[in-house]
Amino acid sequence: MPPSHGPRAAAPEGPAAVRLNTSIADLPGAGKHRAAAWRRLGVNTLFDLLRHLPHRYEWEAAESGVADLTANVLGSTRGTLTSARWVPGHGRAKARFEGVLDDGQGQMHLVWFNASYLRDQLHPGMTLRVQGRIGRYRGQPQMVNPRWERLDAEGAAPLKDQRLCPIYPATDDLSTLMVERQIGAVLDDALKLVADPLPDDMRRRLAMPSLAEAYRMLHRPADEDEPAAGRRRLAFNELLLLQLGIVMKRRFTQTQLAAPPLRFSDAIDRHIRARFPFPLTAAQEKVIAQITADLRRDRPMNRMLQGDVGSGKTVVALYALLLAVANRCQGALMAPTQLLAEQHFASIAAILAGSSVRMELLTAGRAASGSEDRRLQLGRIKRGEIDLVVGTQALLTDKAKFKDLAVVVVDEQHRFGVLQRAALKQRGDMTADAVALRKPRVPHSLVMTATPIPRTLSLTVFGDLDVSTIDQLPPGRTPIATHVLPPDKTDAVYRRMAQRLAAGDQAYVVVPTIDAAGHATADQLKSVRGHARLLQEHYCAGFRVAAVHGRLKRRTREVIMDRFRRGEIHVLVATTVIEVGVDVPNASIMIVEHAERFGLAQLHQLRGRIGRGAHGRENVCLLIADAATDDARQRLEAIAGTTDGFKIAEADLAIRGIGEFFGTRQHGAPPLRVAQIPRDHTVVMQCASGYRSQIAASLLQAAGFENVMALNEGTECWSRFLPTESGLPEPVMA
Ligand code: ADP
Ligand code: MG
Repeated sequence: MPPSHGPRAAAPEGPAAVRLNTSIADLPGAGKHRAAAWRRLGVNTLFDLLRHLPHRYEWEAAESGVADLTANVLGSTRGTLTSARWVPGHGRAKARFEGVLDDGQGQMHLVWFNASYLRDQLHPGMTLRVQGRIGRYRGQPQMVNPRWERLDAEGAAPLKDQRLCPIYPATDDLSTLMVERQIGAVLDDALKLVADPLPDDMRRRLAMPSLAEAYRMLHRPADEDEPAAGRRRLAFNELLLLQLGIVMKRRFTQTQLAAPPLRFSDAIDRHIRARFPFPLTAAQEKVIAQITADLRRDRPMNRMLQGDVGSGKTVVALYALLLAVANRCQGALMAPTQLLAEQHFASIAAILAGSSVRMELLTAGRAASGSEDRRLQLGRIKRGEIDLVVGTQALLTDKAKFKDLAVVVVDEQHRFGVLQRAALKQRGDMTADAVALRKPRVPHSLVMTATPIPRTLSLTVFGDLDVSTIDQLPPGRTPIATHVLPPDKTDAVYRRMAQRLAAGDQAYVVVPTIDAAGHATADQLKSVRGHARLLQEHYCAGFRVAAVHGRLKRRTREVIMDRFRRGEIHVLVATTVIEVGVDVPNASIMIVEHAERFGLAQLHQLRGRIGRGAHGRENVCLLIADAATDDARQRLEAIAGTTDGFKIAEADLAIRGIGEFFGTRQHGAPPLRVAQIPRDHTVVMQCASGYRSQIAASLLQAAGFENVMALNEGTECWSRFLPTESGLPEPVMA
């Protein structure tokens, strides 16, 4: 081990000296019997205790005698509890716990309403300190629901000045006061053990306190501004470590892994383009150039392609896949849903019709996993008899082995977890000639998303990816007008839809559930099938209405989608299965029922189904919504206010916060304790700017890789962002 700099490794100052990893049970004043209670708070060691931060602060008034308390002002005093009793409620009188406090000079009445638990806690003869607003009751001073604390026999010194009192996360058996006392007892010793990984000059330039000072500011603030300054420093530490992890992960990918370099020539380029039915937009050209440059290298591409709904990401993906095929390698395209995989397969098959590219669809539905069909299919993939595989997660779960996988594209990445992305990357590991290479060989990977990643996140969570952006829509797109309407306008909405149908239009109607049966709020929800019937009977005489949802057989769904595409079905009532990929240019009206139930990104995706054709009609998206919550109102306001996917993603992140932004299943969010994204955007920018590489370099030099990993804050963040996440070997840092 290199010399220690990390706080965990700080030298003991004698046999009895505490260390940051000293167990909570061995700390002075903690008491062994409370260890279990501390554990419930997540506190096992002194270091945990130090990191157990207040969640808010309250002013505590300076103490004075009962007689000197000023009426109607927050005050605090101490004395003996001379009486204490529980008074049950009676008629209009509320149940309450009453007491009298005597400080030797005067008496004060205390009352806590409904606080029956105080019967076990407060008894006559106890010495208390109480704080509250002073009122009067029958001519006597009184405090209603005062905060109280029991003073020990020896008695703490009276509080002469007001002070900011930290309020800690607490439990029934460990009150915030007990936490505060325990921290107070060890804080000074603990702070001496905290070493600061940040070089002094850098810290000064950033106007940040030292790490020890930051903890002091949080636990024992001298003024109202200190907690924020301390928090900012800890957030900086966390985010910086996240950044450093990313820097190292990138470096690892770039130096320790190999990918097949793909040959590129004008002839190949011409050959691929000849397949596309339209000229590419300038934005598509730009990202194809970026991707091609990556693919020609012998290290893996690790790129995210973001572009709004309808911006034309598919042909870009196809270009990359065909470059692999032109090099006699394989390509794979993975989609989040079966419907989308089928659509990709159909549209790519159409583009490649008549070519020699061998293509197959690998989904969960097509041939059951483990079946004979599936076994044969996997065999063809393994022998390299298939050039291009389009599939769903089945690509991961079925242990599909490729002969020579060169390019993997993951569509709609936001619907997959980060971990799956990594798992797919491994698919190509140990291919035919990998044995001959010293470096593990992985395919080039391109992840695509229509939910643009706000900058704060592209610098943190997705920081290991290069980003390409399609910032332009193909020609002929017409703008979409979005309106939010209350449920009592439903009739008018559908009349308007009927008029549009008469003019040759087609419509999507989106409802939030498949079937009313078994749904908790079934009667409020409009089911797909029931709703389709209703529309057919009441508004759409002479037109055809059909329903699609995820539980339909693939064949049935295909037939319906196909007829909708050909204009034989006029209204498609659907669940969110149509959220991604569905492309029917003639449809220019969308109605969303219960729009308040949908997420912001989801509404934006859904809306992207319309506005795709050069039909010359106005595109309208009508959201029928009953916005009962603030969040819902904000979402609807945002969606009606802009069609810019980037603005929507920022708004989404701001409304939901990072955890929710990723969704519970995604596990994409880093486990930050103090830092908050997007709230700490400026801190993210500070870490990410010039400092990042500077700090990375100086830290590595000063402390060595192991110690950087052992730095106190954000250790958890680290483990998530190390290359081992993808099952690859640990990085070896110089
Ligand atoms: P997304 O980025 O949402 O995946 P798609 O790749 O599905 O978008 O493209 C949306 C539609 O735009 C498709 O019908 C596609 O054929 C069409 N398209 C893509 N690129 C162009 C282009 N350069 N010119 C005209 N139409 C295009
Ligand atoms: Mg797409």
